[in-house]
Amino acid sequence: MGIPAPTARSLISQKLSSKQKILAVSKLQPTEKIISLYNEGQRDFGENYIQEALEKIELLKDFSNIQWHLIGPIQKNKVKFLKKHFTYIHSIDSFALAEKISAAALSIQHIQKVFIQLNLSEEPTKSGFLKEDFESEWTRLQALSGIQIVGLMTMPPLENEPEKNRAFFKELKYIGSKFDLHEYSMGTSHDYQIALQEGATWIRLGTTLFGERESQKDQKRGPS
Ligand SMILES: *Cc1c(COP(=O)(O)O)cnc(C)c1O
Repeated sequence: MGIPAPTARSLISQKLSSKQKILAVSKLQPTEKIISLYNEGQRDFGENYIQEALEKIELLKDFSNIQWHLIGPIQKNKVKFLKKHFTYIHSIDSFALAEKISAAALSIQHIQKVFIQLNLSEEPTKSGFLKEDFESEWTRLQALSGIQIVGLMTMPPLENEPEKNRAFFKELKYIGSKFDLHEYSMGTSHDYQIALQEGATWIRLGTTLFGERESQKDQKRGPS
């Protein structure tokens, strides 16, 4: 990763600034590690898989002010499980998904805060709106009354050279500013320093805060 874990963890106590916040990505990490980070002052945690997230949310429901963010791709048949569990959903990658989440939220008198995910690198394997599609869908997205669009999210390619992702972060912010959006969810363990320089309001840090994820360790161990 290049960035020693203690350095990233010290960001939590430094509190960055009120406009630049750390989302601790806790997917595939044990709850003990989440509790340990909570005790250091971290309150925002990001999960990718709804089932895993709901289990952790239930286990940690007595931890005051803990906030959960959903950052992974969402299957439409799982939308009914979202309820009011997630303060933010970062991974709105199609109009159909936005529409479905909006309707589900309205049915429980809720307005769900969301980020729209953009696929700026245009890799076919990545989820997210292509820039042109986002711009042409904007009016329809904004008209959905069960969601509040707070900003944009992106997940650039995993470059060996994090500097190569600077252009994507700049572009995300430029697009957001055209639509008067103020939140930018961008940067991971790998490239968060660049993302902070380019105006990230949420950096999503997993391995650099928690160490390797469980399933990755399993994969490295190989079949037994
Ligand atoms: C897993 C994940 C991260 C965190 O990645 P790390 O390299 O562990 O920091 C950030 N964003 C998304 C969307 C993820 O799925």
